[in-house]
Amino acid sequence: TGPSAPASQRASNKPSCKPAVFIPVDRSPEIQEARLKLPILAEEQVIMEAINENPIVIICGETGSGKTTQVPQFLYEAGYASSNGIIGITEPRRVAAVSMSQRVAKEMNLSHRVVSYQIRYEGNVTDETQIKFMTDGVLLKEIQKDFLLSKYKVIIIDEAHERSMYTDILIGLLSRIVPLRQKKGLPLKLIIMSATLRVEDFTDNNRLFSVKPPIIQVDARQFPVTVHFNKKTPLDDYSGECFRKVCKIHRMLPSGGILVFLTGQAEVHSLCRRLRKAFPYQKNNTAGGEDDKEDSVEEMRKFKKSRKRRKVMTLPKIDLNNYSVVPVDEGDEDRDADTDDDAAGSDIDLDLGDGDSEEDEKSDSSLPLYVLPLYSLLAPEKQAKVFRAPPPGTRLCVVATNVAETSLTIPGIKYVVDCGKVKKRFYDKITGVSSFRVTWVSQASANQRAGRAGRTEPGHCYRLYSSAVFMDFEKFSAPEITKRPVEDLILQMKALNIEKVVNFPFPTPPPTETLAAAEELLIALGALKEPPVTGRLKQQLAAKLSCPISPLGRIMATFPVAPRYAKMLALSRQHNCLPYTITIVSAMTVRELFEEFDRPAVSEEETAQLKGKRARFLQMQKIWAGQGPMQKLGDLMVMLGAVGACEFAGCTRKFCEENGLRYKAMLEIRRLRGQLTTAVNSVCTDAGLYVDPKMKPPTEAQATYLRQIVLAGLGDHVARRIQAEELLDDKWKNAYKTALLEDPVFIHPSSVLFKELPEFVVYQEIVETTKLYMKGVSAVEPEWIPALLPPYCHFGKPLENPPPSYCPQRGRVRCHRPSVFYRVSWQLPAVEV
Ligand code: ADP
Ligand code: MG
Repeated sequence: TGPSAPASQRASNKPSCKPAVFIPVDRSPEIQEARLKLPILAEEQVIMEAINENPIVIICGETGSGKTTQVPQFLYEAGYASSNGIIGITEPRRVAAVSMSQRVAKEMNLSHRVVSYQIRYEGNVTDETQIKFMTDGVLLKEIQKDFLLSKYKVIIIDEAHERSMYTDILIGLLSRIVPLRQKKGLPLKLIIMSATLRVEDFTDNNRLFSVKPPIIQVDARQFPVTVHFNKKTPLDDYSGECFRKVCKIHRMLPSGGILVFLTGQAEVHSLCRRLRKAFPYQKNNTAGGEDDKEDSVEEMRKFKKSRKRRKVMTLPKIDLNNYSVVPVDEGDEDRDADTDDDAAGSDIDLDLGDGDSEEDEKSDSSLPLYVLPLYSLLAPEKQAKVFRAPPPGTRLCVVATNVAETSLTIPGIKYVVDCGKVKKRFYDKITGVSSFRVTWVSQASANQRAGRAGRTEPGHCYRLYSSAVFMDFEKFSAPEITKRPVEDLILQMKALNIEKVVNFPFPTPPPTETLAAAEELLIALGALKEPPVTGRLKQQLAAKLSCPISPLGRIMATFPVAPRYAKMLALSRQHNCLPYTITIVSAMTVRELFEEFDRPAVSEEETAQLKGKRARFLQMQKIWAGQGPMQKLGDLMVMLGAVGACEFAGCTRKFCEENGLRYKAMLEIRRLRGQLTTAVNSVCTDAGLYVDPKMKPPTEAQATYLRQIVLAGLGDHVARRIQAEELLDDKWKNAYKTALLEDPVFIHPSSVLFKELPEFVVYQEIVETTKLYMKGVSAVEPEWIPALLPPYCHFGKPLENPPPSYCPQRGRVRCHRPSVFYRVSWQLPAVEV
């Protein structure tokens, strides 16, 4: 029985298939017709019965079967949304949260005030909202404010097969919240929806659910998909290969939409451009330039809006979506999935060969191709285009990143071109440094991609790799939580007063070392209370894994950035440093501010040109910030200068091009600054902070404070230059010793401190090219280290048997990691911690 069922109906023993309450929905005939074709409609009765009878239900169904769009409607019609509780749906991707809320609103003929979405800092939720789509991070943040989630009647965790870190953690938390709500007499329904059959991590996990929840399978109509492998070993130029494949399909094969899987936004755009040039479609031809112009106007509008919002003191909700500071946009991670198509499909029928012949890029007499890009960060209006029928007389070709794999289903696709790669974020085990890398997908992902071709009729999937390579793919990709550092997650959990994190019912627990490393970092940052040093070693270790959160940690947990950056923000309320720290954190987040230096230059001319631009930029920055004292702030000053100078010039494309700045990066920084400012305002209500896009340069004193603030946040990223008298062999010349690595690291040639070689530096990240290089470097004074980072220091006599890199004259204090030795003298720190 539904939650609002009258007692008389509840009394009848046999569960009635009819909902106790029926809220009518006024759908248009076309929508109704399209709905009836969805496989999930046939299961409505089974699904609703299961939900009525069980607190927790799992629904599995092939992508496109209608889970995301229909289940919320079933619940709504059955009266699950009412004045005392609404329906919440979480998505791991922002793009899905936004587009699905729009789709459901349209299908139900309801306004966005009723069917709404909330993603990081952005949403249209109102008092009338009954169905709320949100990112998983948003819900996690809400749990922090109201552990029982009392405003919800139903929570749907969608795309659980993606195994995003927040989805996993939400399932763990909800496994406890659901029984608690039961006890209180306010039952909460939990529905877990997944595209794959591999749900054992949820169901056969008695730490998670004491009673195994029922699983409902939705059989999707899937037409056969013929898979064609390339015969040759995969090419590096998969983008070019995609182009040739699409050209061939378009010229030789019957009508039907084409869906291309590439790895990132830049690739998507470049292929779109090439295809539009080859098969022009008039209205669609002006892509790049105009898009960008629109973006910039849009950014400006948003920034102004956020400024207005501050004045009326609305406190925006902060959430954890993409909580780590590197935006996850391009790293659309692949997920696990199954399809029933035959992976080793025939090579004969409609096989287009390996595509080794060169296509000319000139336009030919074929039909125009209606080329659309699709990726996470694409504006929602533009994303929506892929769902509409292409203009008559054209063929649809969608060039997408991984978003098209399970999150969104594009109608009318008959041909899939799969490059077999995905851009994923990788984390270095030791340094925790993350980078995006392009790797092979899993077999499950490849099959899922192929399945996209068989939604409406039999289709074809062209894989740009050989079947031998496919056999070497891993079967499924591992859950995110097992692959990345978890300090941000642990801080959030501690803020929920979950102290013994090791006992938490993770669907798949992260490795204990990862947990220990996270706790250690958080202790060092002062976010957790240090455990007492008493008892046996074993007890000490256990204590270390269950430290409660500190007051500083609570403040840090409210900032929507990773703990290191959160600490910087928390300290920056001193000396009016906040606007600068916000800018620095935003710039670090966006990372590459300059046109690329590392990429193998196409020509010497190009290199010279880039160098010229860089020199001009540095000149510009000096005009903005003056000479001298700022220098020690190093690359962080360059970041500040880039934003400062660029904003003074009105943040135009022209200015950026002349000075070698990436225009898109500058727009992104502007957006992040606006967001972070709003977030900081809602935490520090007394800050009264308004970040003017046009920022004054910091004073000399502020520049010094900023260096300390950065040191306090990036404390484990300290490096000391190896002195001449310590040189053991030449490979250490001009090298630095870090706390985390045994090997020599160097200041990156693009750094402004490359020639300065200060004795102590902090770095943002280490990248490995020909050597290990530090990027985002600024100089620090040695005496700050014990003051700002006591946990990293160990006070004692010089060692009797010092390791080779140790210098007795300098050694007084050493880092507790044995490999770095600091020389310090004592002075009062300027920043209070
Ligand atoms: P699932 O969640 O099971 O993958 P969805 O509910 O997302 O399935 O999609 C069901 C169907 O609705 C798909 O066939 C898809 O083509 C269609 N659909 C989803 N969003 C839109 C949209 N914005 N416009 C038109 N059709 C859509
Ligand atoms: Mg879905």
